[in-house]
Amino acid sequence: MGNPLRDRRTPKELAASRQVIDFAIKITDLEQLTAIVEGDLETLDPDKLPSGWRETQATGQLRFGFADAQEALPQLEGEVSATIDVVCQRCLEPLSLPLAVELKLLFAADEAVDGGDDFEVWELDEESIRPLDVVEEALIMALPLAAMHDNEKCRSPDEAEAGESVTIRPFAALKSQMEKEN
Ligand SMILES: [Zn+2]
Repeated sequence: MGNPLRDRRTPKELAASRQVIDFAIKITDLEQLTAIVEGDLETLDPDKLPSGWRETQATGQLRFGFADAQEALPQLEGEVSATIDVVCQRCLEPLSLPLAVELKLLFAADEAVDGGDDFEVWELDEESIRPLDVVEEALIMALPLAAMHDNEKCRSPDEAEAGESVTIRPFAALKSQMEKEN
């Protein structure tokens, strides 16, 4: 028996067999994502490196089927989630970043195919796909441009060095005071 996540098949084959793939993989199964995370974590002091980052799991389910009654247009619906270790771009400390992606894809070799509002079109360069590659791309696309802790939970090293914890905005307080009086 093959591995449905890793085997290359055409989307039509996957759709015709109504393939459902439940998976729990390690981040290191996704080479590009691993390289991105590794590059990001390299900026940390070695003693701050989250020791288990290579063990991070990505889990989810992929469900293949057809979008149309004529069974011409293969589609994929599914969910992927993972909590990955990255570096907060404000305080430059480690951050556990939860990612949750909902997949709604149509597979087409023709870029004229319109997925409408709900579905994105996955343009086929080759006839077959590897479902694992779809999972990897979904997670990479879900990465924020700059990962940060929740607002106000951390500050940049510059501010920390200056010993400032000033989040009071005197003008804002004054302004709201004046508005109340009027
Ligand atoms: Zn932070």
